[in-house]
Amino acid sequence: MADYLISGGTGYVPEDGLTAQQLFANADGLTYNDFLILPGFIDFIADEVDLTSALTRKITLKTPLISSPMDTVTEADMAIAMALMGGIGFIHHNCTPEFQANEVRKVKASTRPVPRKKMRPGRPLLCHPCRLKFEQGFITDPVVLSPSHTVGDVLEAKIRHGFSGIPITETGTMGSKLVGIVTSRDIDFLAEKDHTTLLSEVMTPRNELVVAPAGVTLKEANEILQRSKKGKLPIVNDRDELVAIIARTDLKKNRDYPLASKDSHKQLLCGAAVGTREDDKYRLDLLTQAGADVIVLDSSQGNSVYQIAMVHYIKQKYPHLQVIGGNVVTAAQAKNLIDAGVDGLRVGMGCGSICITQEVMACGRPQGTAVYKVAEYARRFGVPVIADGGIQTVGHVVKALALGASTVMMGSLLAATTEAPGEYFFSDGVRLKKYRGMGSLDAMEKSSSSQKRYFSEGDKVKIAQGVSGSIQDKGSIQKFVPYLIAGIQHGCQDIGARSLSVLRSMMYSGELKFEKRTMSAQIEGGVHGLHSSKAKQNTS
Ligand code: IMP
Repeated sequence: MADYLISGGTGYVPEDGLTAQQLFANADGLTYNDFLILPGFIDFIADEVDLTSALTRKITLKTPLISSPMDTVTEADMAIAMALMGGIGFIHHNCTPEFQANEVRKVKASTRPVPRKKMRPGRPLLCHPCRLKFEQGFITDPVVLSPSHTVGDVLEAKIRHGFSGIPITETGTMGSKLVGIVTSRDIDFLAEKDHTTLLSEVMTPRNELVVAPAGVTLKEANEILQRSKKGKLPIVNDRDELVAIIARTDLKKNRDYPLASKDSHKQLLCGAAVGTREDDKYRLDLLTQAGADVIVLDSSQGNSVYQIAMVHYIKQKYPHLQVIGGNVVTAAQAKNLIDAGVDGLRVGMGCGSICITQEVMACGRPQGTAVYKVAEYARRFGVPVIADGGIQTVGHVVKALALGASTVMMGSLLAATTEAPGEYFFSDGVRLKKYRGMGSLDAMEKSSSSQKRYFSEGDKVKIAQGVSGSIQDKGSIQKFVPYLIAGIQHGCQDIGARSLSVLRSMMYSGELKFEKRTMSAQIEGGVHGLHSSKAKQNTS
């Protein structure tokens, strides 16, 4: 019987398309543009698609998106925004170790001592080391004042920490008896001459406060806070001493960022990049002290004795720190790093938008092939793969994930957003931000870290592996990342995969089918035949 004859309502459906194994069976290197995924069957809504995916052996993200450790892409602002939306950012290392560690600290919202000169002699401690505003849950070291502090002290704390709603205890410290709270409503309309007024005169006293007992769960405390309609809920022990507070703003953040990537202390996850030379060990120490959750060993060719030695060193000194090795593009490279003990692999060589590695070094691999080959090997050892570079569209993200990557790292796609480092400037009336390769001469001149990434340190002649350019203003990633998330969900829906793990198992089982794209197919798949068209996506 011929393939196309179908008996009854259901019947034999001819084989169509290629499995991933068939797609990559011969030696042609494929980029994301060289193939398409054939659509499957839809029986769920796109919103339901679960994008949970592993970053490393021990860290899982709800959004498989990562910002690259580049000095025009990821510092604290980007890393905070990425983590709030369920991804993660890696702070670049084209800077001093101290600067980098401080950026990590901003993300982790760890304790910051108040500069000594700002404390007034003879007065109780004005501010405890405070947390920044990015953590959720119980705040155990908030700013606390005493009744003998003044309205001026509250205003000073507000300028420094950007909030009010300060609990007042007998001694102005945590663990002391709660006697009241001062909110902006208590002081908003006071004249300048009233700045010396004691807080005991303006605070809302203890008997008018809603509090919760120590031992209350976060869920219960949040419910009490919601019912009370107050901004802060003090938590007191049975001696009425202040042990923690929870804040309405944090509750809102929990609601606004349900996907946020957090550690066990409810602090945002943060990654950081280091090199593999001797002085990177000092950098590593500072980064771990600052609370970095995961380190990426930043090298354009990761299969080196230096990187293997660094993995051993980190695993011995900080056994719990997650380490991502790379970059690699072959299973043989991956093997050495997996044997050394990496918890994740970064895949890509020469595919970045600012990259000239393949032209200059003659080494590299088209990214589709690199991702498939490395992921297919690494999964046997439970090591997740990051598809790094060459992502130009949300479709590329879906393709990278469909080839076995667990997460996707982006540079150019996130550059020139509000959260990316650097100032906007205008050229021919267009608002731009700089974006440069870390192996560009421009970046290598700034610091030796970039030179190390490209093994160029100490060389008489610097060989650039990247270029420097600019990108048009994209607005905030607060809008752009949700667009990417929705795009990935829609892609998975068309494929018929309810989650990224289903997507990967469909690919490995051969159920997911691909097709190569000729040049004319690529032209057909893009916008064509129009006199003019509008930008594809306006997220700004
Ligand atoms: P993009 O997302 O295509 O812009 O690529 C970003 C990726 O390119 C980064 O995550 C790095 O892996 C890589 N990269 C960054 N700087 C350079 C460079 O100067 N030369 C080659 N690759 C680079």
